[in-house]
Amino acid sequence: MPDTMVATRPDTDNRAAQYDAIVIGGGISGMYMLYRLRELGMTAIVFETGTDVGGTWYWNRYPGARFDSESWTYGYSFSKELMQEWDWKEHFSPQPDTLEYLNLVADKFDLRRDMRFRSTVTAAHWDDAANQWTVTLDGGEQFRSRFLITAIGILSAHTLPAIPGRDSFRGPAYHPARWPHEPVDFRGKRVGIIGTGATAIQAIPEIAKECAQLTVFQRRPNWAAPLHNAKISKQEMEEIKSRYEEIYARCAQTSGWFIHETDRRKTMDVPPAEREAFWEKLYAEPGFGIWMGNFRDILTDETANAEISRFVAKKIRQRVKDPKVADKLIPKDHGFGTRRVPLESDYFEAFNRDNVELVDINETPIERITETGVRTSDRDHVFDILIYATGFDGVTGAFDRIDIRGPGGIRLKDVWADGPRTYLGMQPDRFPNMLMVLGPHTARGNIPRAIEHAVDFQAGLLRFVQQHGYTRVETRAEQVEDWTQTVIKASDALLSSKIDSWQTGVNRNVEGRSVRRVLGYNGHGIHFRRKCEEVIANDYRDFSFR
Ligand code: NAP
Repeated sequence: MPDTMVATRPDTDNRAAQYDAIVIGGGISGMYMLYRLRELGMTAIVFETGTDVGGTWYWNRYPGARFDSESWTYGYSFSKELMQEWDWKEHFSPQPDTLEYLNLVADKFDLRRDMRFRSTVTAAHWDDAANQWTVTLDGGEQFRSRFLITAIGILSAHTLPAIPGRDSFRGPAYHPARWPHEPVDFRGKRVGIIGTGATAIQAIPEIAKECAQLTVFQRRPNWAAPLHNAKISKQEMEEIKSRYEEIYARCAQTSGWFIHETDRRKTMDVPPAEREAFWEKLYAEPGFGIWMGNFRDILTDETANAEISRFVAKKIRQRVKDPKVADKLIPKDHGFGTRRVPLESDYFEAFNRDNVELVDINETPIERITETGVRTSDRDHVFDILIYATGFDGVTGAFDRIDIRGPGGIRLKDVWADGPRTYLGMQPDRFPNMLMVLGPHTARGNIPRAIEHAVDFQAGLLRFVQQHGYTRVETRAEQVEDWTQTVIKASDALLSSKIDSWQTGVNRNVEGRSVRRVLGYNGHGIHFRRKCEEVIANDYRDFSFR
């Protein structure tokens, strides 16, 4: 073990236990980071709030929860043996199978040995003299480490609706990101769901099939397109396994690290009939093709965007029997693809059922939650179960929930008050020895692909620190400024930058979250990869070491 690292064994009983690295979060990021840290010979511990591994797939157990990435592009690629061992059962894996997969990974690499569950990190303070972090858990226990690595996800800080009386409902009320571990029995029940984002769009058709009555409270509709999920046969899985290298190489080349890539043509350059046929084809295909494999200007040009929006609106009208309901389900305040597109399975058809009612709360606003249900301006809706599918304080929310302080006691929350400042989304400005997997201002898209890329980059950086006997790595102000401007510029031309969503940092249930911010790198994935490769080739000179 290199002498710059703190050579102690993980010892969770020791109040002053010291590690080379503390990782916050036991999801896909934290699990892989632990694997890499061990490879580097570093002592490490992962703290996780949940009772087991899985992160997003541990928490989001609601009916209908599944991937919108093709399953066979989603798994870890660091172990060929693992890739050959695991069979995906569906092209878009449902949550229980994904959690099973992550449990297999944890077992196979004996990850739980260095993970502590039911452990929420409440604070992380930098000790400038010792070049170390002190990390505090919710029970008050403290740990020290040379490095602090956040693996806290971009959609982990769930938010409840800021509606009066929210806690007065007497029946069970669930947020999908805190769904019970035992199945919820909807049979014969009157169910109310608030929100029509990706989560609700997955849950609604499933719950509708089972419950007596489902009332959907919609503030703003979202554009959604068919997922076209299907089972994977044994033979098909064997064929996928034989092509993994090619599949992952493809993901590494595309804009969003999915298998889909933008069509180089411009919408209005293509004759209308050909355009329509292309869109029909995309609409009938599985996955994100309609969003990420579409003409190159649909997300930047108002006219092109209006055309694709018209097409998708037409499809919604074809699928929903009642024209008034169809009209309510068609977004008017934003164009197709300017918010992350939920992929659905029979979402629109759910509104053709007799037991599903759509309540447009712009017409009849919610006044309060009552003991028995939801009071809108025109009536009392009585429910047995309420679901708050009201989303997350995206990207920076999970950071804000931890009291992170750098040199001189500066708070990360304050430094980021006007927007994040990072280098490559890998390290926050002014916070030494803190690394972020999926930090703000990084490239995202197909999440596990982004995670593996970030963890590999950071493992390389840590190896460099080890090899040179450094004890401290931090950002350079000029590089941070340059990267921040690059990120802002990459979002400038996108229509999505002018739309409120978790991706632009807006969540009206959270104080101070009404101003749009740029929270991700929206340039081409390949540019991000090249930039990172340049930094590595230049011996990480963009960072500063001591
Ligand atoms: P979301 O997209 O932010 O949707 C939240 C919904 O709740 C919106 O319809 C919002 O309405 C509504 N809402 C919030 N507060 C409300 C209030 N006080 N009163 C009434 N309505 C309220 O959150 P999400 O559905 O959880 O999805 C978030 C992201 O998670 C997705 O974009 C996606 O990236 C990810 N996700 C992925 C999958 C997948 O397929 N793999 C599935 C689920 C989620 P407004 O729009 O009017 O604010």
